[in-house]
Amino acid sequence: MRLSRYFLPTLKETPSEAQIASHRLMLRAGMIRQGAAGIYSWLPLGLKVLKKIEAIVREEQDRAGAQELLMPTIQPSEIWVESGRYDDYGKEMLRIEDRHGREMLYGPTNEELITDIFRKEVRSYRDLPKMLYHIQWKFRDEIRPRFGVMRGREFLMKDAYSFDLTPEGAVKSYNAMFVAYLRTFARLGLKAIPMRADTGPIGGDLSHEFIILAETGESQVFFHKDFEKKDALSLNPDYAADLQPIVDDWTSIYAATEEMHDAATCAVAEGDLVTGRGIEVGHIFYFGDKYSKPMGATVQGPDGELVNVEMGSYGIGVSRLIGAIIEAFHDDNGIIWPESVAPFKVGLINLRSGDAACDGACDQLYKDLGAAGVEVLYDDRDERAGAKFANMDLIGLPWQVTVGPRGLEKGMVELKNRATGEKTEVALADIVAKLA
Ligand code: ATP
Ligand code: MG
Ligand code: MG
Ligand code: MG
Repeated sequence: MRLSRYFLPTLKETPSEAQIASHRLMLRAGMIRQGAAGIYSWLPLGLKVLKKIEAIVREEQDRAGAQELLMPTIQPSEIWVESGRYDDYGKEMLRIEDRHGREMLYGPTNEELITDIFRKEVRSYRDLPKMLYHIQWKFRDEIRPRFGVMRGREFLMKDAYSFDLTPEGAVKSYNAMFVAYLRTFARLGLKAIPMRADTGPIGGDLSHEFIILAETGESQVFFHKDFEKKDALSLNPDYAADLQPIVDDWTSIYAATEEMHDAATCAVAEGDLVTGRGIEVGHIFYFGDKYSKPMGATVQGPDGELVNVEMGSYGIGVSRLIGAIIEAFHDDNGIIWPESVAPFKVGLINLRSGDAACDGACDQLYKDLGAAGVEVLYDDRDERAGAKFANMDLIGLPWQVTVGPRGLEKGMVELKNRATGEKTEVALADIVAKLA
């Protein structure tokens, strides 16, 4: 992409409405613009990152055996009346009336809708287990939308739902999602700690929140310091095998949110207990027949009897993750994207646009990198060098290649690593091989 043509409205000033780094930087880097409180438009750069996160989430869901479908954003109220949540959900639910006076709502989550689909189509235990998911916009009329996409009113969620015949089967599905989440967050460059959580309004028996540590996090968390050395990236699970050992390995170490932590019963030695603040990026539940029973989602079991299907639900805050990633990876100059979600891998800076040698070398590099499958944002604008550098640092691409007249005379360009700040002279002829 040539920056001269790209829609990238970056800001030099710090927007006054933004209280935390990720919100400020997303506005400054031209990734989002607010439409109304907690409701955002995704500009090209922001959307690109959102799609990359979505792709990683999708790959790991598919790998774990979940199947993607797509449910609508608008739901009828009847199924919520059936489950008993229509009144319970309260003001967080955005209620809408259609032209015929029918009560509708903008979905804050999808347990009811997926249960409705399931009960109409699945009749036999032979069709189980099933794990279905979608990546879809949700609406929750949050009391205090804030921190940009971190607590939006409209936000993108991956939500999966499992259906099993038995509680043992349901725990297997739960474990598959647990492990898939560990892998997903690790691939995003994040250290997520699974914490035993309150099952809250969704209700049920077993639940974990996946929490990223950040000073700006909204929840207080407590965990054993051993979590700091745990690495999920090396996990290569066989989803057909028993995943309980992996889950046990990750849940045997103490970690709890404020609601679950009890200083009196917590067995961790004082020196080993870390207290911090965290951002909830994922949440998984096993809740048995909480929805299948009131909604009549039954299958015929092996002996012909009707059984309420055992369910679980599994959410990831896809749009919130962008905020969480930026909270984890930024400095005073801007964002520092992990390569796995960077909107472009390379920022190509032409120090002297209009100079025939610089233009020629940059155009060629741009073409060659593109041909090698490297995504490049090429700053071909007629701007001061300082402004170009500051802009590249702000938007945080992992690598910057700077082409200037003096270096070119020797056939050299400068390669900068955004994360470390390290700069090296590289022969123009070697740069594609180095970055591909
Ligand atoms: P929170 O405690 O932050 O209000 P929640 O517990 O209400 O979140 P869940 O119902 O567990 O949220 O939804 C699954 C995931 O969706 C959460 O783990 C979070 O990552 C994301 N999420 C929830 N609410 C929002 C929001 N208002 N804006 C952005 N992401 C959200
Ligand atoms: Mg909430
Ligand atoms: Mg929560
Ligand atoms: Mg939650």
